[in-house]
Amino acid sequence: MSEDKVIVVNKGMVRADYNFWVGRYLDKFFDNLENKKLVGNKCSKCGDVFVPPRKICGKCNVVIPLEENWVDLPDTGILKNYTITPYRVNDRTDRKTKDLSLGMIQIDGSNTAIVYRLLNLKPDEIKIGMKLQIEWAEKTKGDPSDIKGFVKM
Ligand SMILES: [Zn+2]
Repeated sequence: MSEDKVIVVNKGMVRADYNFWVGRYLDKFFDNLENKKLVGNKCSKCGDVFVPPRKICGKCNVVIPLEENWVDLPDTGILKNYTITPYRVNDRTDRKTKDLSLGMIQIDGSNTAIVYRLLNLKPDEIKIGMKLQIEWAEKTKGDPSDIKGFVKM
C-alpha cells in the first residue's frame, strides 16, 4: 500500500485583496454615505440614536428592527474630544512630519460619537464643544472614507 503525496511550499508574503460584508445595518449606513447622507437608528425603548447604526441598544438590550427606526441626520455635530498625533490611525509604524488632528464628533440628533480627522484647524483653534460640519469626499464609494473629515462651521 503506497500513497503519493505532493507537497508544495511557498515562502514569502502574499497580498490578498478581499471584501467583507459589514452586515445589514452598516450596509444601509454606507449606502447612504455614498449619497452624502448621514443616517442613524433609534432605540424604541430609550430613544437613543446611534451613528453608526447598531442592531442592539446596549443600554436596553433590545433589538432595533432593521426596517424601522431609521433617522435622517444632519452633517453637523459637536466636538466631544480630540487628540493630536504624528501617527496615522491605521499605520502607527511611521511618524509623519505633519500632525493629524482626530476628533470624536457627536452628530446633532445622535447620542454617540464618531472619530474623524479635523481639517483645516490649527491645534490652538480646536476647542471641545465647537460646532463642526462634515467635509465629504469628492468621489464617494460607500465606505468610511466618504467622510473626508470635519471642518469648523
Ligand atoms: Zn435603548
